[in-house]
Amino acid sequence: MAKAQLASTVALSPLDTAHKQLDIVADRLNLDPGLREVLRTPKRELIVHFPVRMDDGRIRIFEGYRVQHNIARGPAKGGIRYHPNLCLDDVRALAMWMTWKCAVVGIPFGGAKGGVVCNPKSMSKGELERLTRRFATELSIMIGPESDIPAPDMNTNAQIMAWFMDTYSMHKGYSVPAIVTGKPISIGGSEGRFEATGIGVAITIREAATRLGTPLQNARVAVQGFGNVGSVAALYLQNLGCRVIAISDSQGGVFSGEGLDIREAMRYKEAQGQLDGFAERISNADLLELPCDVLVPAAMEDQITAENAPRINTKLLAEAANGPITPEADAILAEKRVFLLPDILANAGGVTVSYFEWVQDLQAFFWKEAEIKAKLESVMVSSFNDVYRMAQEQGTDMRLAAYMLAVRRVTEAIAARGIYP
Ligand code: NAD
Repeated sequence: MAKAQLASTVALSPLDTAHKQLDIVADRLNLDPGLREVLRTPKRELIVHFPVRMDDGRIRIFEGYRVQHNIARGPAKGGIRYHPNLCLDDVRALAMWMTWKCAVVGIPFGGAKGGVVCNPKSMSKGELERLTRRFATELSIMIGPESDIPAPDMNTNAQIMAWFMDTYSMHKGYSVPAIVTGKPISIGGSEGRFEATGIGVAITIREAATRLGTPLQNARVAVQGFGNVGSVAALYLQNLGCRVIAISDSQGGVFSGEGLDIREAMRYKEAQGQLDGFAERISNADLLELPCDVLVPAAMEDQITAENAPRINTKLLAEAANGPITPEADAILAEKRVFLLPDILANAGGVTVSYFEWVQDLQAFFWKEAEIKAKLESVMVSSFNDVYRMAQEQGTDMRLAAYMLAVRRVTEAIAARGIYP
């Protein structure tokens, strides 16, 4: 069943998709109907409406959310998103996916997500700071270093986490660095957090290539999106001997059959603000269809669709971005026997080092970068092996295997704890 079924979630809302994915996995695992209902339903949800004084003196009311999907395996963990189209159902879906992502890499967190309906691009720094501080105060009845630990997500960053941490700490009367991750290093952030997701992507690709018998020496790699995740993944893949033949940003991409110098490309992008001019031009659409050995969509969701999936020409595809492949395209790629590294595994290096940041904050003892990288390597390799073994045992693809592993781990925790009282 596997491949087509997880992919049959066409044109659904994120929450419908998340429910459908869960149903497929629950059927496959023959889950008790009561347990299935527990997993479908968020544990806690908070909706807040709060005023912010804008720069022109007006008061505006904003709506914000925090959803804890499941906390059977540990405190809730998940980002804070600022977006004009945010809605509660989307936050519910994102929280559920965080539960699975934490479970698949075996870190002791449950899943959460939150955010504010706002357009941060039209707000001043002062307005964003006041919104963040008030939102952190509104959430303080639900979050805490032992209960629910936010992090950056779309349109939020280390500065916003610093305001979050400071606000929470002001109310407590002492510093509580473990209240958020993704903070600046000066206030308890972790070494290695910036590179963690890209390194994790490269590690899972290396492990997959070994299993597939595809040597990475000279392997052709194309990376869509040259931001935090894409640029670091490209650099590490180059260090593993790959030939990175194409990279891109939102303006378009550059190509060289001989392989691009990724460090030079990073310097060029830093100096010029774009990749255009660094090498021969290639469009984002053409980049995805290049004949290559490894394709890494690292930009945004829904980049590989039913329209372009038939022309994708790679052996291995790593979902560095969240949800870059539509469910219809997923089915097409499965038919073409592309080996897929699903997002909840491939890009879990970020939440893994967030976990390390939280551990360091709680113990007030900080690790060196080399130690963090060694621990990240260990988590990513064993997670890859766990998912690969599940895929082999169950005769399924890596996406369904990752979901099965995650759901099984969460249900084991629920069963071990029992239903209270
Ligand atoms: P980023 O903003 O640093 O980089 C995104 C890159 O994609 C930029 O180079 C941008 O120019 C490019 N881009 C945007 N639209 C594009 C388009 N249409 N075509 C091609 N390129 C485009 O973001 P990031 O942190 O690198 O995140 C990238 C993806 O990885 C997102 O899906 C994010 O949710 C996911 N992710 C990130 C992390 C993390 O730790 N940063 C963790 C897990 C998942």
